[in-house]
Amino acid sequence: MTTAVAHTVHAALTRHDRCDRCGAAAQVRALLPAGGELLFCGHHARAHAPRLREIGADLSPGP
Ligand SMILES: [Zn+2]
Repeated sequence: MTTAVAHTVHAALTRHDRCDRCGAAAQVRALLPAGGELLFCGHHARAHAPRLREIGADLSPGP
């Protein structure tokens, strides 16, 4: 298990950020209403966007 480095909220995604689901380069950051955040590649962002919006997450594309 890796220790998650605390990301600064709204910091730009970098090539070091990886999708939490598959490890591909992250393209979308999802800020959860509870305060956490998830990173997704393009594929998983599309796959999870409906659910994330349903729970009130704020999706922001990376560079
Ligand atoms: Zn992915």
